[in-house]
Amino acid sequence: MLNSDAISLYRDLFQVFGETKWWPGDTKDEIIVGAILTQNTTWSNVERSLARIRNGGLMSISALANVEQNTLIELIRSSGFYNQKSKTVLELSQRIRDRFGTIEQMKNERTDTLQEFLIDVPGIGQETMDAMLCYALDKPIFVVDKYTLRLLGRIGVSDASTIAQVKAYVHSTMGYDLEKLKNFHGLIVNFAKEYCRSKPKCEICPLQRKCDYGLCGGN
Ligand code: SF4
Repeated sequence: MLNSDAISLYRDLFQVFGETKWWPGDTKDEIIVGAILTQNTTWSNVERSLARIRNGGLMSISALANVEQNTLIELIRSSGFYNQKSKTVLELSQRIRDRFGTIEQMKNERTDTLQEFLIDVPGIGQETMDAMLCYALDKPIFVVDKYTLRLLGRIGVSDASTIAQVKAYVHSTMGYDLEKLKNFHGLIVNFAKEYCRSKPKCEICPLQRKCDYGLCGGN
């Protein structure tokens, strides 16, 4: 790869998509719920569930902490895995209510305290936790997902095959600028959906001449 540092990649992707306004969600509470529902499904399925929760007047941690699980299952059915996801939404909402009160109050806590709190909730793994920390709780944490690993692997970033390595790669040149970290993840998701798909569209990709995989003609 010609430009191997994260800030150069960020600039290249920014030229393609600009500000992504990532993560989609009208409120911090909605971002928390969306981060759970998006596990193993498409965002369009999540959007239908979120709209049903909103229309039911339940899109807040305080409301979700008191909802019946069967009611929630019906509202989020489009997102799949609704038994597990409804349990996770309920459990997390109740724990947030009991320990912090609101998301706004939760944001005042230290990052390591929030990490311990979130990862203890069944159904919340590293990626979901990082998405909540970055986008709902405004902590400067870069979210690493399958798109990130795929793109970095293909363009030829060495030592970026694990989540910890990718975070080190990103923070080493991008620092901890929250807004840039938020946008960088959005840029990578957009780029992976538009160009660097499972079957990549190297022939029309703006990064082709900087990408190991693209330079090899996708071989
Ligand atoms: S050239 Fe191909 S493999 Fe490289 S980033 Fe673009 S789409 Fe992905």
